Amino acid sequence: MKNITPAADLDPATFRPCGECALCCKALPIHGSQDLDKPAGKWCRHWANSTGCKIYENREEVCRTFFCLWKINALPEELAPLKTKCVLAIYKEGVLIVYVDPSYPTAWKEGRMGSYLTVWSERFMIEVGKQRSWVHPVTGLHVSRWRVTPVGETINVKEILG
Ligand code: SF4
Ligand code: SF4
Repeated sequence: MKNITPAADLDPATFRPCGECALCCKALPIHGSQDLDKPAGKWCRHWANSTGCKIYENREEVCRTFFCLWKINALPEELAPLKTKCVLAIYKEGVLIVYVDPSYPTAWKEGRMGSYLTVWSERFMIEVGKQRSWVHPVTGLHVSRWRVTPVGETINVKEILG
């Protein structure tokens, strides 16, 4: 995670507690020191089910400064990563990225999260483990809610709609 959510201007006192959630320690790619370099979708080597982050007090900057959109109160309560299996963040360029727990690869399309993303008007990125895709919102009859293309490819939504 190089990112992300512009937390510098936010008041940490308004942040939600992570509670039992630790999904960012699994769903996100994290590139810190040599000791902390993990791909998306794999639990961090410092994570233990029984104790949580084993180096919490000394965790690296990259971990200390990541705050998902739910944590900073930018999403409704029901979109908590623990419930939706999705971690949402905004990159500096303003692009929404949705990191999905690979144990639930279609979670982003389902339930409350699916409804939320349906009304997202810009393209956004989905990352499920090593798989990264652009998702293009599509509106209109007889078409699906989204078109999904690999990162690097673009599509013309007008062509799809005819
Ligand atoms: S995904 Fe969000 S709520 Fe969950 S541990 Fe990470 S920052 Fe906290
Ligand atoms: S070092 Fe700790 S906080 Fe950082 S990703 Fe690993 S388990 Fe999570």
